[in-house]
Amino acid sequence: MPNHNWMTDETRAFGETVARLFKDEFEPHRERFTEQGLVDRSFWEKAAELGILGATFPEEHGGLGLGYEFDAVTVIEQGKAGDSGWGFSVHSIAAHYIIHNGTEDQKARWLPKMASGELIGAIAMTEPGAGSDLKAIKTTAVRDGDEYVINGSKTFITNGSSADLIMVVVKTGDAGAKGISLIMVETNGLKGFRVGRKLKKLGMKRNDTAELFFDDVRVPITNLIGLEEGQGFYQLMQQLPWERLIVGFTALGCSECALKITLDYVRERRAFGQRIMDFQNTRFKLAETATKIELMASFLDTSLTELNAGTLTPEKAAMVKYWTSDAQCEIVDDCLQLFGGYGYMQEYLIADLYADARVQRIYGGTNEIMKELIARGLDKD
Ligand SMILES: Cc1cc2nc3c(=O)[nH]c(=O)nc-3n(C[C@H](O)[C@H](O)[C@H](O)COP(=O)(O)OP(=O)(O)OC[C@H]3O[C@@H](n4cnc5c(N)ncnc54)[C@H](O)[C@@H]3O)c2cc1C
Repeated sequence: MPNHNWMTDETRAFGETVARLFKDEFEPHRERFTEQGLVDRSFWEKAAELGILGATFPEEHGGLGLGYEFDAVTVIEQGKAGDSGWGFSVHSIAAHYIIHNGTEDQKARWLPKMASGELIGAIAMTEPGAGSDLKAIKTTAVRDGDEYVINGSKTFITNGSSADLIMVVVKTGDAGAKGISLIMVETNGLKGFRVGRKLKKLGMKRNDTAELFFDDVRVPITNLIGLEEGQGFYQLMQQLPWERLIVGFTALGCSECALKITLDYVRERRAFGQRIMDFQNTRFKLAETATKIELMASFLDTSLTELNAGTLTPEKAAMVKYWTSDAQCEIVDDCLQLFGGYGYMQEYLIADLYADARVQRIYGGTNEIMKELIARGLDKD
């Protein structure tokens, strides 16, 4: 398994804590979480008690003040445990918008509660009529005295029904990037706010991906992220590179899990008087998989170093997102094939990993949009 150049005794110990959380508090309930389409709130609270939710938040706001690599460790371990349903990454990314763009008052109001699990976070950009083309969103926030009045709807929102604090992408002005703002919406008892269907999905079954409706929802103007309207697009562009690396670290963790469970299987299962592992095709496929995992890790590690140094370009973040998620899909497909018919059975974890992987090429900006971004960079003078 990859040896990350940023791994220290501290990150290793943190990773062991996350792995233990999954073993003790997730694994015994996996089936129930899958059936209910949601991870229990108590799981979030246990993650909070261990410092996992707020690991990368500033200490003065209830966090541990640690670097991005600690969130990377969390999603790698989550993937290694064979899950990508628990909505930790979206929760943490939502918090990072507040950390990087929020006012001191906003940080003090929300971050300690997000670190303690009292508030679960979500990010609502996508609408029924606008996904890749974010500038085409229709949800509006119109100022009325000391409040914004929000109208519109969002779809495919991770943590949609359990979120208490949602960063909603809205139009506060004319068409185009300058008309977009980010507004935090506290959902508890909020008039005019409604969670629609919990969407039935191909994979990610343990996440409450939902539709959200805003009908004359009123929030204080102090919920606008930052001090000025029209900064939303710029703020999103600043945070997206990290979001894209998180997709990559998830791809890595899930791929490591796929390789491990496949190795366990092919060393046990026999055909034609020998282990499945002994067929040259199996050995080559697994050799290719292990190599892809090392490549993913190296690419992610250099990108993380650049992110921390402030030199990661949007183009490179896009490369990471598209390449690692494509590689993840190839890996889980190759691994599933080695399980034969059992790989297609839901009781086998590889089937879950296969279904979960597919969305990684779609959310966080589709892989086609990633390639557009990369090509745009190549075509600059
Ligand atoms: C499980 C799940 C969880 C999600 N979680 C969230 C969330 O928490 N918050 C949130 O806001 N959104 C979330 N999304 C939404 C996700 O980000 C969007 O689905 C994604 O951005 C694509 O938008 P779309 O579905 O409208 O597809 P469209 O934009 O309609 O794209 C359809 C197809 O056209 C292609 N296409 C579009 N434009 C171009 C172009 N310029 N060049 C080439 N090809 C193009 C796309 O790549 C795609 O293949 C989630 C989605 C899923 C499935």
